[in-house]
Amino acid sequence: MTETERTLLPRDVRPKKYRLTLSPDLSQYVFTGHEEIHIEILEPTSRIVLHAAELRVESAEVRKNGAVMEAARILLDEKKETVQLEFPRIVPLGPAELRLTFSGKLNDQMRGFYRSLYAVQEETRAMAVTQFEATDARRAFPCWDEPAIKATFEVTLEIPPDRLAISNMPPLESATHAGKKIVRFAETPIMSTYLLAFIVGEFDFVEGKTKEGIQVRVYTPVKKKEQGLFALDVAIRTLSFFQDYFEVPYPLPKMDLIAIPDFAAGAMENWGAVTYRETAILVDPEQSSQATRQRVAVVIAHELAHQWFGNLVTMEWWTHLWLNEGFASWIEYLAVDHLFPEWDIWTQFVYSDFSRALGQDSLENTHPIEVEVKDPNEIGEIFDAISYSKGASIIRMLEAFLGAEPFRRGLSRYLKRHQYGNATTEDLWHALAEASGKPVKEMMDTWTKQSGYPLLSLEEEGRSFSLRQSRFFLAGRTREEEERDLAQWSVPVGVLAPRQPEPSFFIFRERKAPIDLPGNGKGWIKLNPKQTGFYRVNYPLKFWGSFGKVIQSKAVFAPDRLGLENDAFALARAGFLPASQALTLASTYSDESDYTVWADLATNLSELTMILPEEPVYRSFRLFACSLYRPTARRLSWEAQPGEGHLAILLRSLLLAELGGYGDEATIAEARRRFARFLKNPRDLRPDLRFPVYRLEVENGDEESYEAVLDIFRKSDLHEEKMRALRALGFSQQPKLLQRTLELSLSPEVRPQDTPLAIGSVAWNRRGREPAWKFLQSHWEEFNRRYGRGGFLLARLISSTTSDFISEEKAAEVEEFFRAHPAPAAERTIRQSIERIHSNAAWLKRDLKSIEEWLADNAGSRT
Ligand SMILES: [Zn+2]
Repeated sequence: MTETERTLLPRDVRPKKYRLTLSPDLSQYVFTGHEEIHIEILEPTSRIVLHAAELRVESAEVRKNGAVMEAARILLDEKKETVQLEFPRIVPLGPAELRLTFSGKLNDQMRGFYRSLYAVQEETRAMAVTQFEATDARRAFPCWDEPAIKATFEVTLEIPPDRLAISNMPPLESATHAGKKIVRFAETPIMSTYLLAFIVGEFDFVEGKTKEGIQVRVYTPVKKKEQGLFALDVAIRTLSFFQDYFEVPYPLPKMDLIAIPDFAAGAMENWGAVTYRETAILVDPEQSSQATRQRVAVVIAHELAHQWFGNLVTMEWWTHLWLNEGFASWIEYLAVDHLFPEWDIWTQFVYSDFSRALGQDSLENTHPIEVEVKDPNEIGEIFDAISYSKGASIIRMLEAFLGAEPFRRGLSRYLKRHQYGNATTEDLWHALAEASGKPVKEMMDTWTKQSGYPLLSLEEEGRSFSLRQSRFFLAGRTREEEERDLAQWSVPVGVLAPRQPEPSFFIFRERKAPIDLPGNGKGWIKLNPKQTGFYRVNYPLKFWGSFGKVIQSKAVFAPDRLGLENDAFALARAGFLPASQALTLASTYSDESDYTVWADLATNLSELTMILPEEPVYRSFRLFACSLYRPTARRLSWEAQPGEGHLAILLRSLLLAELGGYGDEATIAEARRRFARFLKNPRDLRPDLRFPVYRLEVENGDEESYEAVLDIFRKSDLHEEKMRALRALGFSQQPKLLQRTLELSLSPEVRPQDTPLAIGSVAWNRRGREPAWKFLQSHWEEFNRRYGRGGFLLARLISSTTSDFISEEKAAEVEEFFRAHPAPAAERTIRQSIERIHSNAAWLKRDLKSIEEWLADNAGSRT
């Protein structure tokens, strides 16, 4: 699409500086505002168009050379989200000033300028918060709301005297006037509208300084400032790390991190004033799990990376959103690895981002990384696994190919060249090519401009081998379909073999070509060392048979062990490998010691569990799963070992939840014993064990157990703890209790940001799948009102309640429902869910019999 087809504002007027004053009313949930915008008239015009949505624009005038001209007409266009100001005469070329007064509502939809509720003793109070990305600054004040139209901002907030105001820059002065506190902030550097922020509320904070002297503060709920200390330490060290890595100083005088009670995403990188969901920033020294510490560190690293990559250099248009998100989703690992090397976070990348992206991108209904978008619905929908996780995965692939140091030099060059401006994907490739001397664009275009990714098939032909590439689809492809598809990638291929030094890489561009294998294919061979390449691999069947020994002897690193089972399950699902082969391979992991390998394998096994019909096959599968998890879970035991690390703690929680979830009697009994003890003495149960214990108690207990966990949800004042309990409430086996969880999710007790988590937990439960889907349908109006504008929450709600169905009838039912109840902001998510249902049904039809046979031969004897 060309630029003119995008919904862009006319280019005849350009803002230079906004002087913006906002006055929120925290009891009536409304605000008034006025602004003076210094503009440059580039073409004489009597009409000025800028963005505005859900605002009343009360007056508009333009001032030039001492003359004042009032707008004759102010026309709001709700659909285009613009306001057109018509003046009686032409405004001539050159600088001018535009003055507007306006008013709006502090909405409850977590976008634009919105209210978030919190309790002080028994009283409920509201804070006013902003969330502008992608296109919601226009809901707070009329502006040129496009990332490439940068300007400076001088913000003034008029607030109740007992509240605190935070914005991107530090306050310059604060005065009281007519019963209000008036806080004027320093002028920002030149920046995009979507990165502006203002927060008015009550907070405590902890603070410190980076070694470069930047002031860092973490704002927490009142009386909980110790919960900000972990984040403060991470933020201080991460800011310095990025400054050294990019060789560009952090450009603002301060960095604030603010915990917000109601928040749609995980966090938002507003320049100098990053906002977070409470569970993504607060760490309670006594009650937070290791998993929460890790999440907090990762999210902070992500948002702070954006301060350079996104804020200092901004994508030219949302088509290049992936540049921001893919990059931040990659470098968050680099920073966390620097701070916490013992977390082995790069191996975790392969599970959290790489596998996730391969899954999503194997659908027909995926999209290229660089995708043309025009209206807000389309823009909202690309904040997905493709922009984040696939983006991060191909950046990791490129870094492995170019080498860490040339890659870093290229990034630094890119940031210095485009700072305070905008850039495109090509600009990044250009800088990386200069720094590395390698043809980056030629290779990377094949990854960013077309959908999907290749399956490399290693094929044996007599005594030699060949390599063939074809696009991989979740639902599989016939050979003829593959040959008709012209998609081709430049794939950096590396080969691992026994007793081989470092693997070397070559670029594979052909459809098919002969390949020399080390040892001519005698002994084992594995492609894609450490899973740095964004592709899957299929091998001759006898190779698959040889991998069991490789796994058991740990002849390859954890990412490679993960890659083998992950490819095997995906290939089985697509019909390229018998399901029995994938299960045979899975059974060789029972002595696995790596947390991430287990996490990925557990996800693949539970996806298979999802599609299995009821007894007896489901029962045999559970026996098999227990036999697989039991040896490692026993070895770890329930008790922390002296000196054990982060990963052992994560692994214990995972294995106990899996083992108990598949019905292991001893694990369930111990979980319930510990729950009873915990009720008497809450200090008795470590935070890391709480989720598995709550879950197994609800899953195996009666109404009394349910009430006890519900009570934890109600009484805890730590959001993380509340979420553990709420999730556990989705695991009941009793229909009426599942119904209660569903009803609870929409009650005032559950924040709208958390409703999808509660419903998703019920839907994930076999017995809850149908009730959750019914609940979504019968309350669609409310869901659509709350989340209908799109984003993470709507997508999560729809995919979690629909995509695990396993019959064609259900696919038709889901399709029918959304035909009658369109959700334009989740159109692709709906198509993806329907595609997944078809694929579940096809897999079951093809492989159920062989799975049953395999389980009959293997499950019984292994218990
Ligand atoms: Zn981001």
